[in-house]
Amino acid sequence: SLVAVTGANGFIAQHCVATLLSQGYKVIGTVRSHSKVQQVLDTHAQHPDLSVVVVEDITSPDSYLSALQPNPPVAIFHLAAPFHYNTTNFEQDLVIPAVKGSTAILEAAKLLGGVKRIVHTNSFVCIYDAEKGAQPEKVYTAKDWSPLTYEDGVNAPNAPTAYRASKAAGERAAWKWMDENLGVGFDIVSLNPGMVFGAFLPGARPISPAHLNTSNEIVWNVVSAGRDSEVPPTRAPVWVSVKDTALAHVKTLQVPEASGERYLLAAGVYCNQEIADVAREVASKQGHRIPVGSPGVREAENHFGVDASETEKALGIRWQGLSDMLKELMPQLFEIEEKS
Ligand code: NDP
Repeated sequence: SLVAVTGANGFIAQHCVATLLSQGYKVIGTVRSHSKVQQVLDTHAQHPDLSVVVVEDITSPDSYLSALQPNPPVAIFHLAAPFHYNTTNFEQDLVIPAVKGSTAILEAAKLLGGVKRIVHTNSFVCIYDAEKGAQPEKVYTAKDWSPLTYEDGVNAPNAPTAYRASKAAGERAAWKWMDENLGVGFDIVSLNPGMVFGAFLPGARPISPAHLNTSNEIVWNVVSAGRDSEVPPTRAPVWVSVKDTALAHVKTLQVPEASGERYLLAAGVYCNQEIADVAREVASKQGHRIPVGSPGVREAENHFGVDASETEKALGIRWQGLSDMLKELMPQLFEIEEKS
């Protein structure tokens, strides 16, 4: 069966495509420009079950229709959405693509017909309420909701807040659309990952550390800081591996009970000191680049926790640990720097 993956050149989407292909699915990826078509095909070694099409405007159902109509999918993974902080025009560059993008794909699926399930890649930021502060007693689950709105995104004091609002408003818009379109013939599943860390697929490595995706950049900023430097402050203390994130996407196609569910994807809370400590343990080379800081000090003891055990049960996943993830990612990060 054919699965469409939007934003197929993205960090998480590339892993979703690889996992789908390895399990025998056919995949049609969408990217926003022609130059990225070849790049995605090359990453997957021109796999015969992969095709890639251009969808120039992810906020336009018509744009999807003309690209997908010749070959309509039975399921769609919707991952295309901005995840960066390089803008001051929050509405145009973050909020509109996330919010209009999340309903445009639903509208397109309705017009296409034949789609059975849409997996929406949302985020822990759709769950987390920053206003409430550290809340050491609180344990976040998929039942919690960020209060941030579209307007909070437009008027945000900084880009990270605007991003959080864009995702929360985007997820809310998708659920509202589903409520207003009962009997549409497909259901949605919402996946809400924490910061997604992990190795790049061969062929999908960024050309330099400056081109790293927003989440892996966090790891790079810690492990490259220098032995005697401060450990950078932890900003978003929940994480999950990219392999598990991709696997969760594919599992939602295989678990009928996932219909209409919202899942938190989280291996747990972390802090940058913990990344530094584990990275020093697993480093073979470049250990001198990793800051010592205050070994063993764990910020997580002073703030909220997360519980994603429901997701493990429902989707049959065991979350990969920090040490295994870093063993794969860290050598790649230093190689990317060397070759840049
Ligand atoms: P990437 O930046 O690697 O990929 C983002 C994808 O979305 C790219 O294909 C990008 O295209 C596309 N995209 C971004 N903005 C636009 C736009 N305005 N119009 C059309 N396409 C656009 O991000 P990730 O793989 O990390 O993220 C994928 C999804 O997962 C996003 O929805 C993100 O919010 C969500 N997520 C990510 C987390 C993480 O830690 N990485 C955590 C939680 C959720 P192009 O390359 O052309 O810019």
